[in-house]
Amino acid sequence: MKSDLLATVSHELRTPLATIKGYSTLILDYFDRLDTEETRDYLMSIDTSTDRLAKLVNNLLDTSRMDSGLLKLEKDPTNIVKLIRGVVAEASIRAENYRVVVKSVNNLPKVNIDAKRIRQVLDNLIDNAIKYSRPQKEIVISAEKINNELLISVADSGPGIPAGELIRIFERMYRIEKRVYTGADGIGLGLYICRNLVEGHNGRIWAESTLGQGSVFKFTLPLIRIKKKITGRQKRRA
Ligand code: ADP
Repeated sequence: MKSDLLATVSHELRTPLATIKGYSTLILDYFDRLDTEETRDYLMSIDTSTDRLAKLVNNLLDTSRMDSGLLKLEKDPTNIVKLIRGVVAEASIRAENYRVVVKSVNNLPKVNIDAKRIRQVLDNLIDNAIKYSRPQKEIVISAEKINNELLISVADSGPGIPAGELIRIFERMYRIEKRVYTGADGIGLGLYICRNLVEGHNGRIWAESTLGQGSVFKFTLPLIRIKKKITGRQKRRA
């Protein structure tokens, strides 16, 4: 298990590092001979690889904090509609070849959450939807109030997930992509982190999927119980 982890992590660390080192050396060595277009392309590769590296390091640090019980959530009443719209607007910029859309999220009550961490859950689910489906496909984010919970879902039209793996994908470092499809980078920590963050909010997270048609990732968040104002008459009765 440990040597598997080391092999996956070192591959995922080395690839973006090699790109960053390679292109920055190239720019420095040929600075006078490169035209603006070429320099821009190389800088863009450096930028993308740096993001990938930062995400990987953050995921490793988060996992280690979670496993040692050191992750603290700072919960505050939050406007979830605003949060979802913000996340989707940013994802649309990140993935301009995909259609990331929001459906039915209006009139939702506030939720008591660590906004930064729930944003991270949504970012992760949307990034997976993008990573595992083809360009031009629609990714739909919706949220609704069901009894005393909020149900948020991220649906894609990607390859889908085999029924037998729907629970295992939330395990630490579990990946199915090598067997089913190729090309997507990652070390299988994203969904493990999502599960820890959602459960830290006393919510649940799961996936539903039809192979060849797509997947829907869903999670719940408990709603804040709003204290009703007690009228003078009720007080006298009490
Ligand atoms: P990573 O993406 O780094 O592998 P995750 O924990 O985010 O790690 O996902 C675990 C696995 O679940 C992925 O390797 C992939 O096989 C599968 N998976 C996650 N999201 C999707 C999705 N939207 N569609 C199909 N498969 C998915």
